[in-house]
Amino acid sequence: MQITRNTVETSAGPADWFTGSVYIDTIAAPGDESPVGAAAVHFTPGARTAWHTHPHGQTIWVTEGVGLCQREGGAIEVIRPGDRVFFEPGENHWHGATPTRLMTHVAIHRADDHGQAVDWGRHVSEEEYAQAPALEDGGHDLPRAQSRH
Ligand code: MN
Repeated sequence: MQITRNTVETSAGPADWFTGSVYIDTIAAPGDESPVGAAAVHFTPGARTAWHTHPHGQTIWVTEGVGLCQREGGAIEVIRPGDRVFFEPGENHWHGATPTRLMTHVAIHRADDHGQAVDWGRHVSEEEYAQAPALEDGGHDLPRAQSRH
């Protein structure tokens, strides 16, 4: 048994890999003993990962807010607390917050023999991100209290 007290600092998601402000709390770091990596990833509104793949796939479990995810060739999906998503090994995808809501998920993945758990690609463009469904349409959001014009 090994207890790690809450001393690891939150790290900012690097701009090469993320759009917007993203904060990462490490839960498990892949190492010699175990190849499993896990992190709580906090996306501010509008923030998202770049396109990427995971050599052994990845599970994300939404704990807070409202998020988005998309696999290459598929529609952007709205994800909410309690939802989990498995991305297949090698499946090109991204995940992040909606434009107007925070989103936090726990991410769980396994590093390959080289210690790599992610292969990063290009950023998700504003045009791609703008294809997200409006929350009141596809996201089962609560009715808006008021709309102002
Ligand atoms: Mn991923």
